[in-house]
Amino acid sequence: MAAIPRQVSVMGLPFQVRLVDSDKILLETHNPEALAAISTHRGIIWIDRDSTEEVQQASLLHEVIHAINNSLNLNMTEEAICALGVLLRDFLVGNRLWLPNNPQERAGGEQE
Ligand SMILES: [Zn+2]
Repeated sequence: MAAIPRQVSVMGLPFQVRLVDSDKILLETHNPEALAAISTHRGIIWIDRDSTEEVQQASLLHEVIHAINNSLNLNMTEEAICALGVLLRDFLVGNRLWLPNNPQERAGGEQE
């Protein structure tokens, strides 16, 4: 199964990827249903550590698509971003383009 990377590059900008408690996601989003959050100016993506790995992968892609959407003013709806996150994950995993990392390269916990 594919691992969540500790860091990703989005349009040339580095983002730390942190697996955190849902309380941290709520703090960042003020949305009790959110499974992840992103801060483009801080370069951090937070993902709920209690989600399944499949949901964590789709959540990571979801937040990356948000960053691209905001940066390029694509005016994508939340529904479109949700669908693309799930479908891109299916594409990457189904075609073995998202392969397991070294376990030590996996995202760590919150370091704050
Ligand atoms: Zn979203």
